[in-house]
Amino acid sequence: MIKKQFFTILIVSQFIFLSGQAQMKYDFSAIDQLWPIINTLQQDQEPIDEIWETLFKTPGYAALLKYELSEAFFKKHLRLTYKPSMKTNKQELLAANNRYILHYDKLLSYKDSILVFQAQFKNTEIVNQALQLTSEYLTPEMLKNAPSTPLAFILFDRDARGGYGPIIFDIIFVLDKKEKATSLFAHELHHGYRMLNMAYDEEKVELKHDNLLQALNWLQQEGIADQVNIPSEYILSLAKKNDEWAINYQRKIDQSPDIIIKLNMILNNMVVSENNLAELGRELVSNIPQSGHPTGDYMVEKIIKYLGKKDLIETGGNPFAFIYLYNIAVKNDMTLPFFSKQVITFLHEIEKQYVKQPRFDLVKKAYI
Ligand SMILES: [Zn+2]
Repeated sequence: MIKKQFFTILIVSQFIFLSGQAQMKYDFSAIDQLWPIINTLQQDQEPIDEIWETLFKTPGYAALLKYELSEAFFKKHLRLTYKPSMKTNKQELLAANNRYILHYDKLLSYKDSILVFQAQFKNTEIVNQALQLTSEYLTPEMLKNAPSTPLAFILFDRDARGGYGPIIFDIIFVLDKKEKATSLFAHELHHGYRMLNMAYDEEKVELKHDNLLQALNWLQQEGIADQVNIPSEYILSLAKKNDEWAINYQRKIDQSPDIIIKLNMILNNMVVSENNLAELGRELVSNIPQSGHPTGDYMVEKIIKYLGKKDLIETGGNPFAFIYLYNIAVKNDMTLPFFSKQVITFLHEIEKQYVKQPRFDLVKKAYI
């Protein structure tokens, strides 16, 4: 009897653990709210204030409105797109290629695929696929707790936004990405897991080190997360097919050696001017293109090429270790730019201030 009870408890707790792993919060409330609003507008009527308010209070719109665009903007563009009495204005804007009207006008033709997509999300099919992709760049330990950042789907522009609280995706943008949408979620999911597994407490970072840490985090977080959805082989294969985005992106990756030389120079300046750390930190951030994506990709590619993935993944929450690993990797090809010994020592001093388990072992190997 006792044995049986014990067995049941074991099964239950294992189930909770597994379902905890697969959890990714998502929010479609804005999309659900848009259908009745469009319906009212199509009848040339105005939704009552409470209905608009409910839309703008959904997590995705609430977060976006805090930082960009306005309630008036959305009301105006939805009215123009869907109210029959505004048809002449709409036609003029469409003729002028107004990107918002063009975009919002597509929503109804996407309705069926949006409903299918929502159902797939609720079945956790997409969530599990995304989790599987992202788990290739996380240790089992890092996967223990699921991130609480929800993915919020709204209609706003052909784009996505991170860093506003929930991760905001435009629903049409996502559906146009087709099978690549899952790997895009996997990329964002990687950021979520990384945040839960940081090697230091971000709240404790002194103001003078803020930008320096941001720069290092950008390189590490985007460099690794990009392996999930846009690894270098993928970009190269697209570039070979003359894909304009891939050609431009590859060009930015190819500029990385010059950028690394510049970053090393700024870091060297930090070593000798302790009083100027905040300003030099800002300079560091401003010299990293596209929030770290192309330069981070370049550095990760060198680390994987010469050291493999293991250390890269295990130190995924320690941005200092990322620089050490890059230096250790490029020892195999001294034509590549590297970070100076003074810079490594300087970074290690800051690492010791914040990181609970500083990587003494890697620092020694990182000296060139
Ligand atoms: Zn990212």
